[in-house]
Amino acid sequence: PPDVQKLGVASWTFLHTMAAKYPREPTQTQKEDMSEFLKLFSHVYPCNWCAMDFEKYITKYSPRVESKEELSRWMCEAHNHVNVKLGKPKFNCDFWQQRWKDGWEE
Ligand code: FAD
Repeated sequence: PPDVQKLGVASWTFLHTMAAKYPREPTQTQKEDMSEFLKLFSHVYPCNWCAMDFEKYITKYSPRVESKEELSRWMCEAHNHVNVKLGKPKFNCDFWQQRWKDGWEE
């Protein structure tokens, strides 16, 4: 059976890294692409109930695509929403850059 945990860790690594590499000052096209990508991602994510919840989250809290900082914080909050749902501790979003850009040892 598909491994929802492994898929999750890999996907969050991808999503947070993508946000950390997003431009500080994105063009209009880059902003539109990112909004569209996250919407499509929520349609194709290969864990049905995860995807449905993520889609609802995106509809309620539109991805903040104005800058690297905004997108990275938005992603952190979206991840925290799942953490809380699963009974995991919240991550302090002030540390997004250390964790996902500069890097630290788990
Ligand atoms: P993960 O939660 O995968 O986190 C990986 C690493 O990210 C952590 O070790 C930590 O260093 C860092 N981190 C943790 N929180 C944050 C944060 N807020 N911001 C930045 N970095 C952080 N699983 C389900 O069982 N049900 C679901 O409905 C579900 N929905 C999901 C929806 C999406 C879009 C994704 C990508 C995953 C979903 N998952 C779901 C999987 C779940 O979120 C975890 O990935 C999985 O449970 C493994 O958790 P983990 O504790 O190993 O670390």
